[in-house]
Amino acid sequence: MHCPFCRNPDSRVIDSRSTEDGAAIRRRRSCPECGRRFTTQETVLQMVAKRSGVTEPFSRDKIIAGVRRACQGRPVDEDALAKLGHQVEEAIRATGVAEIPSHQIGLAILGPLRELDEVAYLRFASVYRGFESLDDFAKEIELLRAVDPPGE
Ligand SMILES: [Zn+2]
Repeated sequence: MHCPFCRNPDSRVIDSRSTEDGAAIRRRRSCPECGRRFTTQETVLQMVAKRSGVTEPFSRDKIIAGVRRACQGRPVDEDALAKLGHQVEEAIRATGVAEIPSHQIGLAILGPLRELDEVAYLRFASVYRGFESLDDFAKEIELLRAVDPPGE
């Protein structure tokens, strides 16, 4: 681990302890070159297993980028996108699974996106669920209408 102050490529661990919730380990390090101290944190990386079999680290930015595309031209601002990204990340983290299938990420996005904007939701669902015909859209719209409170 590089020293963040002088870029020395080596550092020495002087203390190591678990965080209270046990989800991470913090290490206090000292740089033998400049003598300054810094702290690192080690956590389990939540991985996403894609259909191709490739795994990659979960990325909130990627979620937000995908949702932003679906929201083009819709009255959805960056704050709302950031909030949705946070919600999805929390939901994924709450599963406690170290490697999560990518389709489960899609599912975790659909719920909050439906709350946010129904048109964007339909766009996202059409790609994610592979809608092939108008019928697919019609069915989904029927479902949307069914869950809406009357009068909306
Ligand atoms: Zn240093």
